[in-house]
Amino acid sequence: MSHNLSSYLDENRDRFETELAEFLEIPSVSTESRYTKDVERCAKWLAEHIESAGVSKVEVIPTAGKPFVVAEHVVNPDLPTLLVYGHYDVQPVDPEELWDSPPFEATVRDGKVFARGSNDDKGQVHMHIKALEARLKTGLGMPVNVKLVIEGEEEIGSVHLESFLRENSQRLACDAVVISDTGMLGPDLPSIGIGLRGLAYMEIQVDGPSGDLHSGSYGGAVTNPALALAEILASLKDENGSVTIPGFYDRVREITPEQHAATEALPFDEEDFRLETGSVSLNGETGFSTLERLWYRPALDVNGMISGFTGEGAKTVLPAQARAKVSMRLVADQDPDEIAELFEKHVMSLAPEGVRVHVKSLHGGWPWGANPDSPLFDAAAAALEKPFGREPVYVGEGGSIPIVPLFEEIFEGPVLLLGFAPPGGNAHAPNEWMDLSVYHRGIETIARLYDEVAHKGV
Ligand SMILES: [Zn+2]
Repeated sequence: MSHNLSSYLDENRDRFETELAEFLEIPSVSTESRYTKDVERCAKWLAEHIESAGVSKVEVIPTAGKPFVVAEHVVNPDLPTLLVYGHYDVQPVDPEELWDSPPFEATVRDGKVFARGSNDDKGQVHMHIKALEARLKTGLGMPVNVKLVIEGEEEIGSVHLESFLRENSQRLACDAVVISDTGMLGPDLPSIGIGLRGLAYMEIQVDGPSGDLHSGSYGGAVTNPALALAEILASLKDENGSVTIPGFYDRVREITPEQHAATEALPFDEEDFRLETGSVSLNGETGFSTLERLWYRPALDVNGMISGFTGEGAKTVLPAQARAKVSMRLVADQDPDEIAELFEKHVMSLAPEGVRVHVKSLHGGWPWGANPDSPLFDAAAAALEKPFGREPVYVGEGGSIPIVPLFEEIFEGPVLLLGFAPPGGNAHAPNEWMDLSVYHRGIETIARLYDEVAHKGV
């Protein structure tokens, strides 16, 4: 990296942080309609910001939902083209009383910036813009073409992304896709994503009597839907932590000896991870390490349950209905639709007498696996090495980004998951934060990535 570029990054650190704060302070919550105007304002702010970075072509493109921000900096069609994807929308902030500082006031404590969106994903989007700016404002120019597509509906399931990408596939055509929306394995451990779990998200509804009943007058004579639901849920896993749905594991790829060895060699501290969760112990499927459980094995979790009386004090009631939301995190080669069907069939077979059980599939996404033996991954590893002072680790991700396989399919090129979210960074939770030193090193990494891709290809 040229002297110009590194001094530009050094000299502008404070301004970058001020602008990041401005971005974070726009409450772009996509799921709550009262923030609609703010989401639109955020898209506009972002477009203007990208323009002022020196990018030649920027546009806010409305959809039936939230607008897309699209930018193109094409210097020479013969050079490799990177398409950067990110999102400017954020999760809601509830419960707001658990935040130590207001969620939409960027507050710096101990070298971390606290705000909703600081790591997921505004902070990471901002790093890409600043890297472009550094390159363009120092007059170095770009050794590759860069296009940006930043959406405002990621947190509500990327409703319009697929149709938008297909309609604009010519305009957004690229050789590789870069996504910075994942995490680092350790505070100073540069990490490249090589796998993502998929998702099958289900709802179970158990209907009993036509209305809530007096638990004295009817209790013991009528099936209780809350208990029926609890029985169903409890039987979805056995004593080894394995999911009991017949056929659930049929398509799960075995962990190879190489994967096992690579996972064992990672500097992963189980106790730190446990402390991060605040749980009394780590538990899961017998015979697998924590990282294997998160990256290579599917999981089933109850996300929420509701039934009957949950207010203060006692109210004697036999509830009419009970409901639960259940997520299944999937690994290659599980098919989300097939898993949803197997789940429904199995849950229906568990329904006790005296209640009606309904199962609904709410949404799903495919798992994904990358090939790290490629020029693109070599380029990313080289770009990370100097700013972080070490080689990156290759990590799986327990979460789902269903759009990753979609990008791969539409643009027929590899996807690079270059994530900078800190472990324990509270994405989707109160007190979300981003490490500012990682933020700056990430900008430098991305600025270097352009050169590495220009040399190595994708
Ligand atoms: Zn995100």
